[in-house]
Amino acid sequence: MAVIGIDLGTTNSLAAVYRNGKIEQIPNGLGEYLTPSVVSFDNENVIVGAIAKECLVTNPGETAAAFKRKMGTDQKITLGEKSFLPQELSALVLKQLKEDAEKYLGEPVEEAVISVPAYFNDNQRAATKEAGLLAGLKVERLVNEPSAAALAGRMKLEEEGVCLVFDFGGGTLDVSVVDIFENIIEIVAVSGDNQLGGNDFDRKIAEYLCASHNMDFDGLEPGVQAALLRLAEKSKKELTHQETVLIHYELDGEDIGVFLNNEVLVKCCEDLFARAGRTVERALRDSGYHAEDLADIILVGGSSKMPVVPYFLTSFMGRKPTLAGSPDEIVAHGAGIYAGIKERKEDLKDILLTDICPFTLGVEVNNRSGDRRSIFSPVIERNSVLPSANTQRYTNVYDGQSKVVLRVYQGEEYYCEDNLFLGELELPIQPMPAGHACIRVTFSYDINGILVVDACEGEEKNTAQKVFISQNLRLSKQEIDAKIKELETYKNRNGRNVHSDLLLARGKRVFAETTGLNRQHIGELLRQYERAFADGDRENGVRLQKMLEDFLEQFEK
Ligand code: ADP
Ligand code: MG
Repeated sequence: MAVIGIDLGTTNSLAAVYRNGKIEQIPNGLGEYLTPSVVSFDNENVIVGAIAKECLVTNPGETAAAFKRKMGTDQKITLGEKSFLPQELSALVLKQLKEDAEKYLGEPVEEAVISVPAYFNDNQRAATKEAGLLAGLKVERLVNEPSAAALAGRMKLEEEGVCLVFDFGGGTLDVSVVDIFENIIEIVAVSGDNQLGGNDFDRKIAEYLCASHNMDFDGLEPGVQAALLRLAEKSKKELTHQETVLIHYELDGEDIGVFLNNEVLVKCCEDLFARAGRTVERALRDSGYHAEDLADIILVGGSSKMPVVPYFLTSFMGRKPTLAGSPDEIVAHGAGIYAGIKERKEDLKDILLTDICPFTLGVEVNNRSGDRRSIFSPVIERNSVLPSANTQRYTNVYDGQSKVVLRVYQGEEYYCEDNLFLGELELPIQPMPAGHACIRVTFSYDINGILVVDACEGEEKNTAQKVFISQNLRLSKQEIDAKIKELETYKNRNGRNVHSDLLLARGKRVFAETTGLNRQHIGELLRQYERAFADGDRENGVRLQKMLEDFLEQFEK
């Protein structure tokens, strides 16, 4: 049974597996590696990925994207008559990836290592684990995205030292400073702008096109805006390989067009770059390092592919960054390597699986001030490198006390009641005057969130031990089981005919976006194609499929 690594992205998701000494990316049903993190409903059918992305235009009321931003909150996302927690929608994406992986590997996949942004708090991490459980995946390990990127990058670069990871995705920029030393990857500082990504560039390009024809982008209908944004994204991607691109669009019978090159892009997006610069500055300041101290600046995320990004960073930081091999795939590679480490693959055995503990763990102590609220005494501090162990000494409170009850908490607050209670452990002690007992409490916290608490009194006459599994899940076992059942009632339509389903979805989207003769023509082709499909008329189906494909290619050129 394979363990896979998953980059569950805001915009795109990807799974990878470590096999035969190397990392392999797992293709989806369309033969592509990146699966858009978009979920759409069509009655009781669920659609995930590229087809769902088309539905953002044709069926926006029942389609959701970018729900990763809401992970860890109780905000429900309403799709038609149904409503979902963010982790349930994420589970639908994970289910799709799991299914694609099983098909690709030819064996069941029941466990995954999922990457999460380094700044994700406990709630967001718990929601990600829940998403895994709801998708039928055991998720013992989450890995920080910059650690995964650094690990995968390092396997190639053989770098050691402090690196800055600049992860520029579709909707977020995450900048992290990581220390890679002797097979340990440690996060030193993180900073981010969760409203800055490739989408903002698309918008600036669309606004530029409109402004050059004295139009206001904000004043356009949502459907037209969506079409322009799609066009802008396409042009932006073309600029990766081309000096200049012509963007043109037929708006109300009028042809509007403008030339775009990287110089213009830099000008239109000046404020976006300024924000990116501030994010980098903050991460560096918090880390205590300067640009010249860094062993490397690693660029990851799809938006780092824009040539203007390394160009900007070179002038901003006074040194050249390294663009990761496949910037939008490298986090998944890292997660896949972590999955391999977890499976104890021989060739990965000397890489240590490390991470930091994102919260503090400790015990309750008596409040001597007369305030009835008990106080939290930290044993393992947040940001400790895992696995971590620490011992603290306590004593008895009353004369003749015969036992102590160690109440274990997780959190950062002064009063225990403001932290999360994990459980308790009882230790019998020798009766003696107050303040004379020597009680040693040792916490050992490992990489899988398993906390072992050992307590002993005096010369180990009395000892006690208890294991706490801090999965930090917010939902109960029953709730999870009920939700798994509910998600199973939705039939996944990304089944046999994904290619033709995508073509139909794309045709319907273009139909929605156009007017006039083109629209009539597409409508006619769609009707004929669907009919041929329903009648099982293969020959005509193939012919119409080709016609529809050619027309859409020509139309969206
Ligand atoms: P996320 O981490 O948010 O899931 P990705 O790392 O996959 O996202 O990045 C998605 C973003 O990358 C999108 O905004 C997309 O337009 C952009 N992108 C992908 N390829 C290119 C390219 N060749 N040139 C410019 N931008 C690109
Ligand atoms: Mg990403």
